[in-house]
Amino acid sequence: MLLIGMITESVFLLLFIALAVYLAWHLFNLNRLHKWLVNPSKKTPEVFGIWDDVYYQLYQLFKRQRKARRRLTSILNRFQKSTRALPYATIVLNKSNEIEWFNPAARLMFNFNSGMDVGQRIDNLIRQPKFVNYLLKKDFQKPLKFQVNQRQLILNMTPYGDGQYLISARDITSLSQLDDMRRDFISNASHELRTPLTVMTGYIEFLQHNADEQLKVPLDMIQQQTVRMNKIITELIDLAKLESAAAVDFSNVIDIHTLLNDVYNEAIALDQEQHHIELVIENEVPGKELASHLNGSYEELRMAFSNLLTNAIRYTPDAETITLFATSHDTGTTIGVKDEGVGIGYEHIPRLTERFYRVDEGRSREQGGTGLGLAIVKHVLDRHNASLHILSEPGKGSTFCCEFPLNYEEY
Ligand code: ADP
Repeated sequence: MLLIGMITESVFLLLFIALAVYLAWHLFNLNRLHKWLVNPSKKTPEVFGIWDDVYYQLYQLFKRQRKARRRLTSILNRFQKSTRALPYATIVLNKSNEIEWFNPAARLMFNFNSGMDVGQRIDNLIRQPKFVNYLLKKDFQKPLKFQVNQRQLILNMTPYGDGQYLISARDITSLSQLDDMRRDFISNASHELRTPLTVMTGYIEFLQHNADEQLKVPLDMIQQQTVRMNKIITELIDLAKLESAAAVDFSNVIDIHTLLNDVYNEAIALDQEQHHIELVIENEVPGKELASHLNGSYEELRMAFSNLLTNAIRYTPDAETITLFATSHDTGTTIGVKDEGVGIGYEHIPRLTERFYRVDEGRSREQGGTGLGLAIVKHVLDRHNASLHILSEPGKGSTFCCEFPLNYEEY
């Protein structure tokens, strides 16, 4: 018994010593691991057993992380280098519109201070009311044009991440100066041409009264061409005026019934009962009052709708129906013209509002068109924050819709 007891006791003692050594070994390795983790390197401590595997796995993880970090740093460096080199001002804003980062072009454009302005709200640094309103409205679909330090700028705001914004701004002063020069040139040339044309028209009328039979036909043709030239010049001057006019005064309220009745009566007089022209003003939302007014320039809108109706008369065979319509709906008001005329091929529609673009030049000329009507319509609508939508099918007819979204005057 005594022998068995002594053997058991010494086994327990041996076991206890082995366990203590094992634990001490682990504690020792844990301590070494802690030291290695503080400053990981390729050189791992001399270990064996499970610790060898632990070091191997940890070192692989560390290597992968280091590689990913290097790649990220290099991407970030490349991004910063390229945005630094961009001629466009680039600014990164956080959720609260505070500046997180900007490139040297932004520093020059807005006189930012690299040390002090990071962390500042952008509207404290760019105080132009146009920019502040743009920022407040949070509608960044269209770029903003505004002036800073006598420079014309165009600015885009792109949302990204979690409520952050990337601003990119470009100096378009020289472009807009060129545009001004082009506009002035067209306007001056048109005005200069008008005086000799008036003199020529006078002489042609005089000659027509006194001409013999032989000269009558050529003189009539000359007179027709001068009328055409006069029309082109008048429309070029109208376009130049639209381009250089001050912004539309949206406090001006226009009664839709009065406006469309004026356009309708003018068209009836021009058409001389060749077509069936109707005026329809309706409401698509039952129980809701028809938007009875528009805000903006009466003369400009009259000119736009008149152009659409004149086109419909021009490109619709006699006796067909033409409708001048106004519809108010949940998202705004649509005013347009629908005809049962020659229609327009799908491929021409995107180019119709370009100056002098015609689908069929011969037909346009024959009908007294100048190729400027839809360019004028587009300009007027742009000035009123409205848009033009064209639906058409060759041989069936066309519908030109001018869309005035709700609160378009506040844009
Ligand atoms: P134009 O003075 O030649 O009519 P516009 O700028 O008003 O010039 O129109 C451009 C072209 O669009 C026209 O030449 C014509 O081909 C086409 N167009 C315009 N309105 C209509 C319409 N209602 N039906 C068919 N084609 C049209």
